[in-house]
Amino acid sequence: MNADDSTTRVDFIRAIVAEDTKTNKWDGRVVTRFPPEPNGYLHIGHAKSICLNFGIAAEFNGLCNLRFDDTNPIKEEQEYINSIMEDVRWLGFDWAERLYFGSDYFEQMYECAVQLIKAGKAYVCDLGPEQMREYRGTLTEPGKNCPYRDRSVEENLDLFERMREGEFEAGSRVLRAKIDMASANLNMRDPVMYRILHAEHHRTGDKWCIYPTYDWAHGLEDSIEKITHSICTLEFENHRPLYDWFLDELGIYHPQQIEFARLNLNYTVMSKRKLQQLVQDGLVSGWDDPRMPTICGLRRRGYTPESIRNFCKRIGVNKFNSTVDIALLEHCLREDLNKTSPRVMGVLRPLKVVIDNYPQEQVEELEAVNNPEDASAGTRKVPFSRELYIEQEDFMEEPPKKFYRLAPGREVRLRYGYFITCTDVVKDAGGEVIELHCTYDPATRGGDAPDGRKVKSTLHWVSASHALEAEARLYDHLFIKEDPDDVAEDEDFKSNLNPNSLEILSSCRVEPSLGQAKAGSRYQFERLGYFCVDPDSSEDKLVFNRTVSLRDTWAKIQKAQNQTR
Ligand code: ATP
Ligand code: MG
Repeated sequence: MNADDSTTRVDFIRAIVAEDTKTNKWDGRVVTRFPPEPNGYLHIGHAKSICLNFGIAAEFNGLCNLRFDDTNPIKEEQEYINSIMEDVRWLGFDWAERLYFGSDYFEQMYECAVQLIKAGKAYVCDLGPEQMREYRGTLTEPGKNCPYRDRSVEENLDLFERMREGEFEAGSRVLRAKIDMASANLNMRDPVMYRILHAEHHRTGDKWCIYPTYDWAHGLEDSIEKITHSICTLEFENHRPLYDWFLDELGIYHPQQIEFARLNLNYTVMSKRKLQQLVQDGLVSGWDDPRMPTICGLRRRGYTPESIRNFCKRIGVNKFNSTVDIALLEHCLREDLNKTSPRVMGVLRPLKVVIDNYPQEQVEELEAVNNPEDASAGTRKVPFSRELYIEQEDFMEEPPKKFYRLAPGREVRLRYGYFITCTDVVKDAGGEVIELHCTYDPATRGGDAPDGRKVKSTLHWVSASHALEAEARLYDHLFIKEDPDDVAEDEDFKSNLNPNSLEILSSCRVEPSLGQAKAGSRYQFERLGYFCVDPDSSEDKLVFNRTVSLRDTWAKIQKAQNQTR
């Protein structure tokens, strides 16, 4: 897929909503919802769903609910609820007063279950999980009716009420829908509606000891909230007949379920269970580790909400599962950061430069452009003095052919400064270059030689005595394989973790204008990439995350593709 084309196309879901609006199918209403289960932090896949649901609501003058699908008390926590709300807001979406919790509907759900029992469409089943599996059959073999299937309505009502009262042990009984044990669709083989769990719920406390399953709860939540288009991912396509069956049997308001392909990204995992493992096993520093595909991880890394929204727009929405190249996400990020990030100079691996013919005590304030993409960003002053730092990798004592940067006897430009020529190299006992001596040409102030002579490269630098100490954290993909789940049989995805995904440089130097930089502020370090101030930053030590390097691999891929076309 060429992601660039999809921006102009209307996707199939928007086409359905547009048609429904035209035919007045839902009395002109458009109501969608984003329904996370609060059992983990949101990731970039959720962002796709958030952009889709909130986006459609906004475009069609509709509403979008934030609904916590909090029907499983065992894995859910308030911490996740808070983080999800923070992340949705940060992405730029607003549910106003439409914040809902599936658990608020437990009483209504119970009553609906009683209605199905009375209609002979649900029954209490005493099979254990093991036997239940046996009776269920397989994809190729039909299931068998269980011995409890023909209990009388009275007996079912009595047992179900006693399940609610807490009379039975966890796992000893379930309530099942009475549909068809021979159905080709396994979801229709008398699916479980309620199970017994003697567990404390974060909102309802110990009021309930029976909890609804996803399939039973989800359609009811949609129905109660008068959702029009219930958008979910493809793996629920096989659940749609059940979604429809429940609502039809109950004879209540019936939204339309529509499935789309979930987002997969290479070099990362997107399952909450796996992300949780990385956190629990201490393989990352937390849910917001800047290498994580979580929204809070991306935020800490320095992603902007605009870049994520734009990425979601570019990938579009369709019905086929595929994997998106993470380079496209980074491309969208660079596109945004290039427009908005102030430029600054910082040196990751400093090499001292002494300009021998520059006056000892002199300091000049050189004018530097804040953002060449945005004239309104103005300029700032950068101090220049006799002792500077440049990047170690910008010097080579014996330069190979295509190395145009500094070398003995060679002249280069210092950004916003002067031409300098390397005259001497100082080494330590081990032969390591530790200092360079140079001369500068005072006539080249501002970066051009009056005699028109050219230099082949321009280096970034900081003034040694003015620069601030900083730590830089450089990141690479979290996994070494494009598909982290591609593993030998006795291993799991964690064996594909990239051992070099984090590199910490603790003696960087940055220009003094960054002294006031606040956590979350984003900059382009000239020639090095985009960086963002980490919350670990303090007055004593600035800490930066490299958000992304400057090299745009996606743009390169696109260019190569266009050339072969
Ligand atoms: P996981 O499989 O990681 O646990 P989930 O689907 O169970 O994710 P939910 O909290 O139920 O997580 O998801 C909330 C919503 O986000 C659902 O509507 C789901 O379809 C959608 N969603 C989850 N993952 C993705 C994804 N990778 N791409 C698009 N939408 C997603
Ligand atoms: Mg789910």
